[in-house]
Amino acid sequence: MLTKDRGICIRAVDYSETSQVVTFFARLSGKVGAIAKGSKRPKSAFDGPIEVLSSGDIVFTDTGKDKLATLTEYQPNSWRGGLRKNLFALDSALFAAELLNRLTHDCDPHLLLFDQFAQFLDDLDGQVTDGPRSGILVRLILFQLALLREVGLRPVLNACANCKRPFSADWREGYFSSAANGMVCRDCEMNFPDRLRLGLAAARCLANVRQMAEARETTLDEIEGVLVRHFTETLGQPPKMARHVQKRSR
Ligand SMILES: [Zn+2]
Repeated sequence: MLTKDRGICIRAVDYSETSQVVTFFARLSGKVGAIAKGSKRPKSAFDGPIEVLSSGDIVFTDTGKDKLATLTEYQPNSWRGGLRKNLFALDSALFAAELLNRLTHDCDPHLLLFDQFAQFLDDLDGQVTDGPRSGILVRLILFQLALLREVGLRPVLNACANCKRPFSADWREGYFSSAANGMVCRDCEMNFPDRLRLGLAAARCLANVRQMAEARETTLDEIEGVLVRHFTETLGQPPKMARHVQKRSR
């Protein structure tokens, strides 16, 4: 059976001299792994090798859950070439694609998440070559929070995940614990050995994400550090692209 959908390529590996195994995050079908036969030939049905982060209409033969589908058509309408002019934007997009691949299941559609991922890539693609690093970090953080929410792992951020005390201005600091799946207050932090301390500015931004856009770059780096640790705990290993988006001093 042939399935038509819109998809974003989130992974592509060489399969042979001429073919690739690709993973698409498709709008209606969810994550689809497929073999693209002959995709590396100059005159293939796919207009050359399929590039990660490109998107467009796909057609694939549905072979059932645990098998690779066969990609029969792909017409990319967006290559997102702007991403390749800004290394930090490209690394951030590849990191988001890796997390999306790791946290979603095959054939499990997430329409809202698809639209959010497409918007995230378009926003990064539109950044000028030397656009501010902080603008990219904000978008990456917001996408990571959206991803956690959409796959059912929404962390508690506006209150203590343990005692439920709401976050307020009188918190002088906050802590984040993967074991608690969210923020924990000063009275509860000692119960969570894995917790990381957060400065007040970072805790505030997480409790109210609308403040994220005005945050300083150091605050954003602190939040991203916490998220990378959280994804590492959630996945059981560090995501491969994580070190490319973190400041070296961390
Ligand atoms: Zn508490």
